[in-house]
Amino acid sequence: MAKNEQGNELERILVTGSSRGIGRAIALFLGQRSATEVVVHCVNKVAEAEACCEEIRNSGGQASCLQFDVSNREQAAEVLTADIASNGAYYGVVLNAGITDDAIFPAMSGVAWDKVIATNLGGFYNVLSPLIMPMIRRRKPGRIVTISSASGEMGNPGQANYSAAKAGIIGASKALALELASRKITVNCVTPGFIETEMTADLPMEQLLQGVPLGRAGSAEEVASLVNYLMSADSAYITRQVIAVNGGLY
Ligand code: NDP
Repeated sequence: MAKNEQGNELERILVTGSSRGIGRAIALFLGQRSATEVVVHCVNKVAEAEACCEEIRNSGGQASCLQFDVSNREQAAEVLTADIASNGAYYGVVLNAGITDDAIFPAMSGVAWDKVIATNLGGFYNVLSPLIMPMIRRRKPGRIVTISSASGEMGNPGQANYSAAKAGIIGASKALALELASRKITVNCVTPGFIETEMTADLPMEQLLQGVPLGRAGSAEEVASLVNYLMSADSAYITRQVIAVNGGLY
C-alpha cells in the first residue's frame, strides 16, 4: 500500500474512465488535494491515463493506472482481483466510465442498445462485484460515487439506451446504499447535465443551453468538486442521494 511522506498509509480510490473528461478531472482533483492514492483507469487511451497519473505525481500526489473494459465481466474481475491482492482493498470507488451511442428508437440497433447497457449499467456490477467484499472486510468507512446523468432522470430523445442505463444506475446505487449503510460505506449518485467533454463535443450546444437556467455548460471540474466532497470524511452522513450538477436544468 502506498504511503505519504509521513509514512502513513494512503487510502486508495479507483476512478473508472479517468483518462479524459469528467473522470480525469475527478482523478486530478482527488490526487492533488486529498490524502489518497488515485487509481486512474481507461480502456484504450493508456497514454492519456499515464499522463493523468504523471500530472498527479508531479503535484506531489500518488497515482497508478489500470486498464480494462468495464463491460467485460471476466476481464474486470481478473484485473481488479489481482490489483487488490497486491495493493489492498479500496476506500473509494467512482464509477464514471461511460459511453453514448445515440439514435432515435426506430433506428437504434440492437448492438447500440446492448453496448450502452453493458458499459454503463453492466459496469456497475462488473466493477463493484470484485471490490465490495474486500471493502466491507476493511471494517472502515468507505465511499462509492456513481456517475449517472440528467438523461437517466428526465429521459432524453435519441438516448433510450443511455437513459435506461443511467436510470438503472440510480436504482442500483440506492439499493446498494441501503445494503452498505450499516458498514459505514456510503453510496451516492451524481447526475451531470451538459458538461464540456469529448462526449458532448458534437451536440448542438447553443440550442441545448437554452434550457439551462444558468445559461452555460458545466465544466468537468465542477463535477469533480462535488465528487471530491462525497469522497471525503465530511460527507459521512450523506448516502442514497442523487445529486445533480446541471445549472438548474430541472
Ligand atoms: P468521455 O467520453 O470524455 O470519457 C469516457 C471515459 O470512459 C474515458 O476515460 C474512456 O476510456 C472510459 N470508457 C469508455 N468506455 C469504457 C469501457 N468499456 N471500459 C472502460 N472504460 C471506458 O466521457 P465524459 O467524461 O463526458 O463522461 C464521463 C461520465 O459522465 C460518463 O459516465 C457519462 O455518461 C457521464 N455524463 C457525462 C455528461 C457530459 O455532459 N459530458 C453528462 C452526464 C453524464 P478511454 O479513454 O480509454 O476510451
